[in-house]
Amino acid sequence: MTNAPAPTLFERIIAREIPAQIVYEDENYIAIKDIAPKAPVHLLVIPKKVSSRLDEITAEAEMGRLWLTAIKVAAQHLSDYRLIVNVGKGGGQEVFHTHVHVLGGWDSA
Ligand code: 5GP
Repeated sequence: MTNAPAPTLFERIIAREIPAQIVYEDENYIAIKDIAPKAPVHLLVIPKKVSSRLDEITAEAEMGRLWLTAIKVAAQHLSDYRLIVNVGKGGGQEVFHTHVHVLGGWDSA
């Protein structure tokens, strides 16, 4: 018996246990379409290395790679966009596996 925490929803998506529309994947990140889009284009960029919330990431390189990946994924779909991170329940976070929202497409909807 282990005390390992239950895998997060996004870990289960990364493991292909739960289906998702994957738009990007590399060794360290995956990007999927949000199941309940709040914009014509709504993607989630998710590090495979689990942290609960953005402020748990303290290494500059890791933080930088997350944002560079979000910008790369955004640029594959949009010329203009909004990047959002909800941090904590009071910040609107519902899934406690750090992720960056990429929102856009209003101008071409
Ligand atoms: P948060 O509120 O944690 O910043 O954002 C979580 C996001 O995950 C929400 O926009 C929500 O629509 C999305 N989401 C929740 N469950 C699923 C799911 O099973 N699949 C996908 N693709 N997105 C999900």
